[in-house]
Formats: sequence, C-alpha cells, structure tokens
Amino acid sequence: MSDESESGGCLCGAVKFGFEKPNLISAHHCHCIDCQKSTGSGKATILMLPSKAIKMEGELKFHTTTTASGRNMNRGFCRECGSPVLSFIEEMPEVKFVKAGSLDDSSGSCLAVSLAISAWLIWLIWVILILMAMVFYGF
Ligand SMILES: [Zn+2]
Ligand SMILES: [Zn+2]
Repeated sequence: MSDESESGGCLCGAVKFGFEKPNLISAHHCHCIDCQKSTGSGKATILMLPSKAIKMEGELKFHTTTTASGRNMNRGFCRECGSPVLSFIEEMPEVKFVKAGSLDDSSGSCLAVSLAISAWLIWLIWVILILMAMVFYGF
C-alpha cells in the first residue's frame, strides 16, 4: 500500500474498504440530528468520495431513512458487528460518504474542516460539492 492509499473497515474486520487519498472530495463533521441518531454520538465525521473510487470488501447491510429534504439516505452497517461504515443518497449514487472513524488510521490529516451547520444547509453544500465533483471527475 502506498502513502496515497487509505484503508478502513468495521470493528470486527468483516468489511474492509480502501481508496486513494487524491480522490477525496471533502471531509467534514456533520452535526445534524440524523447523524447524531444514527451514530449515537454528537456528530458524524464524514469523508465524501466518488463511488467508483471506493474499493469494498465484504457486505454491508443498508438501512434507508428519508431525510428532511425528502431524499432516501442509505446507511451501510457491518452485518456482523453493526459498525456504521458508509452511506449514500439514493438520488446521488455518484458519491458515497465514508464514516471517518472507520479508517484504520483515523488521526486523519485530511480532516481539516469542521462545519457545525443545520441539516438543510448540509444539502445545499453537498449539491455544490457534487456539482464540483461532476466537473472534476467527469461523471
Ligand atoms: Zn464488522
Ligand atoms: Zn448529518
């Protein structure tokens, strides 16, 4: 594995993933109520990546909830240990959101940005990021 590679997985090791750091679109803390409820903590630290940049090993169990803006959020958990690993929005399959805590090295120099903003604003930012990603990666 090169310095450019990041790897992670669930608590029990049944699910593993990897990606190349240059593919990272953004990293932020999300304090919305959905993230608080689904992680059972004060916030979720999320890495946004193009779906095709993530190499998955093992199978996740997805649970779907409807967001405040009416989209279908799919959250993927390890079938064995229940760790949250990644999530994606059904309407935006081009990008996935990896839980930064699942990284093998979560000291994460990439986690530079912390945003304490409400849920509706998150969606606006994501849309902008996705548009940027589309331009960048030529989806
Ligand atoms: Zn597991
Ligand atoms: Zn959130």
